[in-house]
Amino acid sequence: MKIVLATHNQGKIREFKKAFAEIGWEAVPIADVADVPEPEETGHTFEENALIKAHYYAKAVNLPVLSDDSGIIADALGDRPGIYSARYAGVHGDDEANNRKLIEDLKPYTGDKRKGRYVCVTALAWPDGRELTAEGTCEGIIRDFYKGKGGFGYDPLFYLPQYGKTMAELPMEEKNKISHRGRALKALLAKLKEMK
Ligand code: IMP
Repeated sequence: MKIVLATHNQGKIREFKKAFAEIGWEAVPIADVADVPEPEETGHTFEENALIKAHYYAKAVNLPVLSDDSGIIADALGDRPGIYSARYAGVHGDDEANNRKLIEDLKPYTGDKRKGRYVCVTALAWPDGRELTAEGTCEGIIRDFYKGKGGFGYDPLFYLPQYGKTMAELPMEEKNKISHRGRALKALLAKLKEMK
């Protein structure tokens, strides 16, 4: 069985490929299959955005497609940054500016009020319209200083009390085991197995 990955992120591609190989599926990145423009992510939730991407590419390439949508939520800020995580400070993908804004917005808060979580929804869509989704979360504390060089995005601010480390200090394999994305992927694969 072949599945197309709706991402250009090399880290995600490696992680998804490995997970699907374990169940005997060949996962290939969208860039290797077709040159399709990206869809607009107009959803109001991670799930809606993940499904928009998965259905859009599944129709375009006529193969099952896996997508994911993720972000960070700070308890003190309601649902934010949430689905706006990648463009929290205004420019899409400007990690440094996004981190600075999150530090600024959380300045009034201490202790438990600095709790937050990463959330990821994985979606699998088939060209005939069938779909599966699963969610994964990872709880932590959002600190106001940076530590660690690994990962990406908000990882140097995201502290995991049970490890005594930030997400950016964890080796990739470790991060993948406990991350929101790793958990959402695992949950999706479990649902997929039930379907078969
Ligand atoms: P996407 O799912 O790759 O579009 O992620 C959206 C945004 O959420 C990213 O640009 C990051 O700002 C944030 N994000 C998602 N997953 C992670 C993670 O594992 N570490 C750090 N930031 C993340």
